Amino acid sequence: MMSSTESEHLIEKAAQIIRRSKFLIALTGAGISAESGIPTYRGSEGLWRRYRPEELATPEAFQRNPALVWEWYRWRMEIVFSAKPNPAHKALAELENIGILKCIITQNVDGLHQEAGSKCVVELHGSIRRIRCTNCNFKLHLSKPPEETLPRCPHCGSILRPDVVWFGEPLPKEEWEKALKLVGQCDCMLIVGTSGVVMPAALLPFLAKDRGAKIIEVNIEDTPITRIADISIRLKAGEALTKLVTFLKNLRD
Ligand code: NAD
Ligand code: ZN
Repeated sequence: MMSSTESEHLIEKAAQIIRRSKFLIALTGAGISAESGIPTYRGSEGLWRRYRPEELATPEAFQRNPALVWEWYRWRMEIVFSAKPNPAHKALAELENIGILKCIITQNVDGLHQEAGSKCVVELHGSIRRIRCTNCNFKLHLSKPPEETLPRCPHCGSILRPDVVWFGEPLPKEEWEKALKLVGQCDCMLIVGTSGVVMPAALLPFLAKDRGAKIIEVNIEDTPITRIADISIRLKAGEALTKLVTFLKNLRD
């Protein structure tokens, strides 16, 4: 972590860059929801029993043992449904509200950006608040985890699955195209709480950089994005984004 004067200085510089930008977008990952109590995949809390997410969040794991994968998702759904947006989610919602932030591209499946009031949110990896049929077009929005060990489709009887993107699966075409379009328009990208290793989302910062956009990173650790970032702020998302909003508001007045 940084000293507080060092980080204040960087946040102030970030605010000036954002102030001068015309089309700011954000890219978020699991780290922005860590302060809401939702475990990230990478890091010491990224384990569930003796399994790693990469062993559970795959189509192969679901085929082999759907009950196990469902047990893990019920556990994650419980956490998500009782979680509240934290100051980092709220800061991004406020930046959109005051016209500074154009849209959020998120890898998160927890829906907390929308809960915080963000309107433009592109969900690259789906939502854990939705389930869908493995066979037909049936989809359902949830407000609590399903009770059955293996939930079944009311139309065709096939097994239902979380409406999320698993490792090895393609991203939803429409969402990916929206993300590429936003990256093509942005002149500044604020990247918060992503390890920058999950493809193809991890390409987006590099595409933005290639077209000359400024890159501002907020993460508690170095990532592969750090070396292309104009500014890297080594603080927790909540503290960093709250201060950023304060600086931006002062610059406006
Ligand atoms: P990741 O778990 O790979 O990386 C999390 C990153 O956040 C790390 O770089 C870590 O240093 C950083 N971080 C942790 N706490 C932080 C904090 N308080 N402030 C700022 N940064 C913090 O997450 P990822 O890059 O999003 O990729 C993992 C995949 O996992 C995604 O595809 C996503 O779909 C899925 N996922 C989603 C959730 C969620 O929806 N909340 C949770 C876990 C995993
Ligand atoms: Zn069905």
